[in-house]
Amino acid sequence: MVQAASVFLIVLGISAAAISADEYTSEACDCVRTGKVVLALSHPVARLDRFESKTGNQAALNWVPTADERKWVYLVIHHSATNSGSVDAIHSEHRKRKDSLGNPWLGIGYHFVIGNGSGMEDGEVEATFRWKNQIHGAHSGSAVHNANGIGICLIGNFQDKQPTSKQLKAVTNLVAQLSKRYQIPARLVIGHNTVKPTACPGRHFPLQDVIRDSVTDGKLNS
Ligand SMILES: [Zn+2]
Repeated sequence: MVQAASVFLIVLGISAAAISADEYTSEACDCVRTGKVVLALSHPVARLDRFESKTGNQAALNWVPTADERKWVYLVIHHSATNSGSVDAIHSEHRKRKDSLGNPWLGIGYHFVIGNGSGMEDGEVEATFRWKNQIHGAHSGSAVHNANGIGICLIGNFQDKQPTSKQLKAVTNLVAQLSKRYQIPARLVIGHNTVKPTACPGRHFPLQDVIRDSVTDGKLNS
């Protein structure tokens, strides 16, 4: 597995040494870290059909990864806890961070960011390099969830206010697409606060409504 992962990264032009195992336990939000390190449990799988291209969903076409897809298990929802933000701004900020071993992060810890009109368009969905290259996230503080979970961050502080209607529409559509593609059931579409004690994604984020309107596995919360 490790050897295969190294080859995978070298193909991407990323030095395997540049990715420390410790980044698996990193997170984008300000929370206490867990100490346990588990190497990648997911792995590249054969490339599947293009993202929902048959449905004519043009937005979804932008989410087609450029690398072989991993077998994703979780969808982990976050808020940025800021009033504004963008992929570029978060990427710059996260590149300044170092893990507990002193190694710099690769960059933005999430796989997708959804804008709120301040820094990005309201409801705009942008995939990050982690999604395009199908590599682990650095968003949950949990090794298992970083290795196997797709990290989605909505710009905003939902402890203070609700997401915009365009953001809710966008995240519902994104969760619908991803949960369907990777056969992720409702119970594995989770907020960051399910992984560990944190306010993220905020008390005003209507996660159950998003799940109800997006995941159709018939086993809501089972
Ligand atoms: Zn979070």
